[in-house]
Amino acid sequence: MKRNLNIEEIEKVFDKVGLQATAQRIAIYKYLYEEPKHVTVDEIKEWTDKNFPKLSLATVYNTINSLLEHGLIKFVKLNNSDKVIYDSNTSKHYHFFDKEKNQLKDIDIDISYIENQLKEKYNISDISLVVYGTEK
Ligand SMILES: [Zn+2]
Repeated sequence: MKRNLNIEEIEKVFDKVGLQATAQRIAIYKYLYEEPKHVTVDEIKEWTDKNFPKLSLATVYNTINSLLEHGLIKFVKLNNSDKVIYDSNTSKHYHFFDKEKNQLKDIDIDISYIENQLKEKYNISDISLVVYGTEK
């Protein structure tokens, strides 16, 4: 599902979380949000190289980190991998990692029973769950 975001809308989002709207932040945010995706920094860099060739890898990292710090994106880490996968879906959701396709996707399952069991004892801010396997 492709979303269309204009710069004013993005500036509003940034304003709400107190993040200064620089050109590179707007560009990378737009890239991540227009089509919700799970991407590595290399994939983001590949995209910026094509569209904003002057952005260094350090700038891409800094931009990702400010988006992360302000809660505009999340990241997922996989078992047995140093790879960090950035996720533009910041709602509480869970993942399936297809070992054959080497691909991460969102899955829609109800695990509210976990929260219900824990909420007496803990203040839960997020739950991260990655299921590994292959698709049937
Ligand atoms: Zn996701």
